[in-house]
Amino acid sequence: MLRVVPENSGQLVPLDPTVPGNESRVSLFGLDAAALAGVLKEEGEPSWRADQVVEAVYRQYISEISSITTLPLTFRQKLVARGWQVGRPEIAKAFKSADGTERYLIHCPGPKAESVEAVWMPEGDDGEAGDGSTDEAKDWRRATICVSSQVGCAVNCQFCLTAKLGLQRNLTPGEIAGQVVSVLDRHAVRVGRDRVNLVFMGMGEPFLNYDNFMAAVRLLVHEVGLSPQRMTVSTSGIVPGIERFAEEPSDLRPKLAISLNAPNDEVRAGIMPINRKWPISSVIDAVRRVRLRPRERITFEYVLLGGVTDRPEHAREVARLVRRTGLPAKVNLIAWNPGPDFHYSTPKPETAEQFQKALTAEGIPAYIRQPRGRDIFAACGQLKRTVEA
Ligand code: SAH
Ligand code: SF4
Repeated sequence: MLRVVPENSGQLVPLDPTVPGNESRVSLFGLDAAALAGVLKEEGEPSWRADQVVEAVYRQYISEISSITTLPLTFRQKLVARGWQVGRPEIAKAFKSADGTERYLIHCPGPKAESVEAVWMPEGDDGEAGDGSTDEAKDWRRATICVSSQVGCAVNCQFCLTAKLGLQRNLTPGEIAGQVVSVLDRHAVRVGRDRVNLVFMGMGEPFLNYDNFMAAVRLLVHEVGLSPQRMTVSTSGIVPGIERFAEEPSDLRPKLAISLNAPNDEVRAGIMPINRKWPISSVIDAVRRVRLRPRERITFEYVLLGGVTDRPEHAREVARLVRRTGLPAKVNLIAWNPGPDFHYSTPKPETAEQFQKALTAEGIPAYIRQPRGRDIFAACGQLKRTVEA
């Protein structure tokens, strides 16, 4: 019997049944093709069966070994008897918004069971599949999936609900990729045909769980078949993480978003204590090391906090700051999503529009991101806090 070392995808060590928690079954989900080949070899099967398991688990979204009908029945029974399960994280609760957004609490099983949040944001509803044909099965043309990288977060941004949970633990590669596959499964997404974008903007700081985050990206690219050019990872500005990210091969590297959130170091340090460790200039220097693909841009995310970061002079300062970086960039403006126990306020829509106009007038492309699913605890971290409280 083998067990997967949670922090280190693919590494297999013998399972010690005397250790509490090890009596639970072990998961195929989260293992890449090479690791699966190793498992199957251990179980006395030819390693080419790994391709069948990859196809079943990552492409057909099968979540029970008994349903992998490409494997001989006796072998399926043997795998189960030996303690294996697919073990994909499961959607435990789903909340559907009037605007089509769905938010999920996803249960990650195992000895350190936890639940995390993921979101499905569909766009377009005209029944046209994008290739001119109509597709009656779908009520969306394009969708974005947002997933978590940690349970809670240690970064402590003053406006963020996830921060209030503190860091509970890192998610494993299988738990990160499993959120994506559970949502793909729920909406019967055909990878390669349907337009889905993926953002690592849920709970947690991906660059403080770097190895597991990138192992999840590799699973999603190689085993699930998603394109890294349709993925965006957002960081609060963890400089060593950005430096490692800059070294990733371009066929595996998602796009990069930086949570700028303030026009200068002083305001930023007031709302993001991490700025004292890594001020804006150090973050920008690290971002410059990323070799951008043709037409790729860096996204600066900017949360508009009433009176704190949303003034006209702030907009002019942000424009100067972004221009001085010399990077191809755009700014995504997000009106602060309120939550309980905060002393911040959300700006009026006119204020956000003026901020956007001030940026575009200075030649900086800026977009207002509409809050999605306001009626279903939209701010990330709110669902877990509200539903599990
Ligand atoms: N930890 C990463 C990714 C998760 S947070 C990061 O901070 O970048 C994703 C985005 O949500 C960040 O840009 C963050 O600034 C923003 N955010 C956090 N709390 C918010 C809130 N209450 N309203 C609006 N945006 C928020
Ligand atoms: Fe963590 Fe991002 Fe929230 Fe900051 S904004 S506390 S980095 S999840």
